[in-house]
Amino acid sequence: MESEIEMPCPICASQGHLKMISHVDEIPYFGEHTQVTLMCEKCGWRQTDFIPAEGRKPGAWSILIQGEEVLRARVVRSSSCTIRIQELDLEVSPGAGSSGYVSNVEGVLNRFLEIVNMVKRDLDDGTDDEMLRCVELEGTLEKLIEGRHGGVTLELLDPRGHSQILHPEAMDRELSEAEILALPLGPDPPVLEQ
Ligand SMILES: [Zn+2]
Repeated sequence: MESEIEMPCPICASQGHLKMISHVDEIPYFGEHTQVTLMCEKCGWRQTDFIPAEGRKPGAWSILIQGEEVLRARVVRSSSCTIRIQELDLEVSPGAGSSGYVSNVEGVLNRFLEIVNMVKRDLDDGTDDEMLRCVELEGTLEKLIEGRHGGVTLELLDPRGHSQILHPEAMDRELSEAEILALPLGPDPPVLEQ
């Protein structure tokens, strides 16, 4: 279903170029959900999100990254999801431009690697300590992606409960009230009522 949205683009602010495409989809073990993509035809901005058909509680999912098999575990990350690897002190919080995606554990690690590389490139006048940490992180992430490093936990924290790790070894728990208050919600979800 495609519809125009009477709203300026949140990135380029142009009027009349925002479109919303939504369709109902089924992901095994995640279940039926509506995939919503907002896009601006002027500047190319896109934002995707996943709204499960059944109401979900705010929740956290985690999985121990160990061995190659876990790397292929599917990950549904909504725009309100914070991704964390505590052992490596890595965290990606949803900002205003946050977009959802379906990937796997390996794909999430690759995204972390891209961020570390970006930070490293911007470190021209950074201290040696910062550079050292980036190089270390890069090495650790590369080993994890190759299945040669184990023992870190990937965590998805989603106050809207729209995210999930789809794997028999993945564990879920409810978020505490303090956690819910501390977690960013990301962008407002697009209006679904049509
Ligand atoms: Zn735009």
